Amino acid sequence: MSEFDVIRQYFTRAPKHSELGVGDDAALIRLGANMELAISADMLVAGTHFFADADPYQLGWKALAVNLSDMAAMGAQPKWATLAIALPNIDHAWLGEFSRGLFACADTFGVDLIGGDTTRGPLTISIQIMGEVPTGLALKRSGAQLHDEIWVSGPLGLAALALAHLQGNLSLSPGDFKRCSAALHSPQPRVALGYGLRSLTHSAIDISDGLLADLSHILQASHLGATLHLSQWPHACHWPEAAGLDSSGQAKLLLSGGDDYELCFTAPKASRDALLQLGKKLDLDLCCLGEITQDPSLVVHGVDKAILDIKELGFDHFK
Ligand code: ADP
Ligand code: MG
Repeated sequence: MSEFDVIRQYFTRAPKHSELGVGDDAALIRLGANMELAISADMLVAGTHFFADADPYQLGWKALAVNLSDMAAMGAQPKWATLAIALPNIDHAWLGEFSRGLFACADTFGVDLIGGDTTRGPLTISIQIMGEVPTGLALKRSGAQLHDEIWVSGPLGLAALALAHLQGNLSLSPGDFKRCSAALHSPQPRVALGYGLRSLTHSAIDISDGLLADLSHILQASHLGATLHLSQWPHACHWPEAAGLDSSGQAKLLLSGGDDYELCFTAPKASRDALLQLGKKLDLDLCCLGEITQDPSLVVHGVDKAILDIKELGFDHFK
């Protein structure tokens, strides 16, 4: 059973008092004629999502950034956050750095911390984020259309490379490790891109569990399939050299690595020029990877054009 089976079986009911409930990057509540409130929560647990001795400043940044990524995926403007935190003890040096990182991220993206809860327990950080989106413009997972092009907002797999290096499964040069480590510890939520995508795309999701896993959520919600072509992928060429990683290991990290916090979105071909312009304006390497198909399967052609045999789509807490 996967975490998504648990959510479906035990926590999913048709919403009676909201526009959109369980199943997307955020829920939507109509506030008035013109605005909807987007709400989402994410939890980080020591030993599961981060090493217990992780740098507290980076942890504070990342705890909020992963939530802002869900706002970006909805095209919503993040505004308010609550923080529920369990601490094993009161460590002033740790708390000072954690709150500095948290507020650095909050200030960068214009978010107020407006409440929360604090208890003693194994280190666990749960943030709820709320933001606004003009009525009808939220980017949902369910909006993909046949022949849409599939895009990602930047290079993938860098965070997974840093993690694999830290776990001793491969070896990166010091320079490459620095770049990958920044992707792992200080993700940059694509909030400004989310606004720009509102009028150009049909569907979006943020990549937290791995491209294939998260794209699959778009495909399921939209009842469509996809074909991806790694040979079209310029980012693959800028990938760091990693000692101990063959090409199939590389494809696996790229496609299923997780912790990327880039956006994956689908858009009509007519949006292509505007998307490339938007990417240039925001200094993001937007990249088109493939297209949406009628057949509801996910087919990936490798760099040599052969179809890849994909065993796992991405990270799942219960698999
Ligand atoms: P994301 O990766 O965007 O954070 P998740 O994969 O964590 O989303 O969750 C998928 C969907 O299920 C989301 O809409 C989320 O709000 C919802 N969800 C997850 N856990 C629960 C829960 N315990 N109760 C209700 N809804 C949940
Ligand atoms: Mg998400």
